[in-house]
Amino acid sequence: MSASPSGPGTSRTRSWWGWGYTDAHPDDAECVALGALLPGTLARPLPVPRVADLKIGRPGVTLPAALAHLVTTDPDARAAHAMGKAYRDVIRALRGRPGRIPDLVARPTDDREVADLLDWAGGQGVAVIPFGGGSSVVGGVEYRGDTHRAVLSLDLTSTDQVLEVDTVSRSARIRAGALGPVLEAQLRPHGLTLRHFPQSFEFSTLGGWLATRAGGHYATGRTHIDDFVQSLRVVTPAGAGTSWRLPASGAGPSPDRLFLGSEGALGVITEAWMRLQERPRHKASASAAFADFGQALEAVRAIARSDLSPANCRLLDPGEALLSGASHHGSSVLVLGFESATAPVDGRLASALELARAHGGRGGRPAAAGDAPADTAVSAWRSAFLRMPYLRDGLARMGAVVETFETAATWDRVPALIDAVRTEVGSAAFKATGNPATVNCRLTHVYPDGAAPYFTVAVAGRPGDEVRIWDDIKAAASDVLHRHRATITHHHAVGRDHRPGYDLQRPDPFALALRAAKDALDPHRILNPGVLID
Ligand SMILES: Cc1cc2nc3c(=O)[nH]c(=O)nc-3n(C[C@H](O)[C@H](O)[C@H](O)COP(=O)(O)OP(=O)(O)OC[C@H]3O[C@@H](n4cnc5c(N)ncnc54)[C@H](O)[C@@H]3O)c2cc1C
Repeated sequence: MSASPSGPGTSRTRSWWGWGYTDAHPDDAECVALGALLPGTLARPLPVPRVADLKIGRPGVTLPAALAHLVTTDPDARAAHAMGKAYRDVIRALRGRPGRIPDLVARPTDDREVADLLDWAGGQGVAVIPFGGGSSVVGGVEYRGDTHRAVLSLDLTSTDQVLEVDTVSRSARIRAGALGPVLEAQLRPHGLTLRHFPQSFEFSTLGGWLATRAGGHYATGRTHIDDFVQSLRVVTPAGAGTSWRLPASGAGPSPDRLFLGSEGALGVITEAWMRLQERPRHKASASAAFADFGQALEAVRAIARSDLSPANCRLLDPGEALLSGASHHGSSVLVLGFESATAPVDGRLASALELARAHGGRGGRPAAAGDAPADTAVSAWRSAFLRMPYLRDGLARMGAVVETFETAATWDRVPALIDAVRTEVGSAAFKATGNPATVNCRLTHVYPDGAAPYFTVAVAGRPGDEVRIWDDIKAAASDVLHRHRATITHHHAVGRDHRPGYDLQRPDPFALALRAAKDALDPHRILNPGVLID
């Protein structure tokens, strides 16, 4: 069993503590250059952490012989499954204080093995944490309690096959552990695609997307993975079940809805029938710059309410635009993209650009697919988007506190919400560190009735105090969201970090029903304890 799993079809090594592949991490010199952008950071980067320096104890349990071949106690594997990939996780690893290291890492290959592991864990009082790509940014894959005898990380990535493709209904049965590139590679020969591209696509799985209701590539329309689900198969401690494959159904509350977003607390999603799409053949993109962010918001609202349905409609505020290289002139930048499998999209792009211009947008030379990029803002934004998580870790090595959070609210609240986050989170960061902070905003997903603002905070921390500083900043952020009735998360999920905000947001009778579902499906309370429900 590989401790630091390699990427599909590659021998590259995954980082146990930071984002992505180790060979893509910024080196020390790049870290220093990054740190120079943020006043008050360290002179030298923190060393890259080593598993050998962690105090990893012996596992607290042993498995019966019939299950022993499914697990490893290898320290590298255990360390790589201790936490997700939030800033909070990265800095704890850098400071040599990762979360609780799981006792065992299991890699079942079928539903029977998942059920056997759950049976055994239930009898032993062992916590089981379903683990897909481990890209959670909300503390979703770590154990924070002390009431279980031991912790087993249930890594599903050995179940990664596309099992059936139904070209008549254009859907496929896919096992939950498939990482994004793995499942897309298996769909490509059929000319089909799931076309769900979260920023974490390379290192996250179908099961993780379903369990967290991930938000993908589409900026409008079908934004969440939920929109592509036909049916789910779930193995719970109380038994396994599969919902019917249906294009739609009005038969009572949806069984799939119970498990979508259940974050490993109610059952293990082992496979799903997913709606697919033809691969897009027509693509066009362009950007428009705005001197005024408020006007840019109005332009986006107009586009979201039109029937143009852009695949990409990201509004970057001046700070985000500068950071990604999309504008160096203090402008906000709207990145627009259209795609279709059947018809050219240039007309829709032109109409969207007209709406942008009607609200003060400038520029907007379209870049056709395959051409040299006519619009450098679009290509600059794309490459920065993929590189950003690596740069975050480089900045963390320089002692910076740098993290993102996201939300959604109705349009009537969006402008005031963004202003309040900038002001209040900026002052909380200054109060916590004594250093000036940047708080940037982009809109990632837009709807006719509202939008999903996504914020990036960066500030030089105080050595050794970074986790507390981030927790203070995050508490201030959650407070602003709550006061503006903006959701605690649009797509990053609840995990452990968003529990207080989630508890305030959900109606009491719903919390009761969720608790009852937990009691029924997980009577020994072994599944991802602390997530969604106490
Ligand atoms: C750099 C970066 C960029 C990101 N970009 C996006 C983005 O664009 N959109 C977005 O939505 N999110 C994003 N995320 C968050 C994260 O990638 C998503 O939450 C993703 O869906 C998690 O998938 P995963 O396979 O890594 O799941 P994990 O992190 O392994 O698990 C996440 C949660 O799901 C549970 N779980 C995992 N697999 C199963 C299963 N088969 N059955 C039951 N429960 C399961 C886990 O117990 C945990 O609670 C990003 C994260 C990072 C670090």
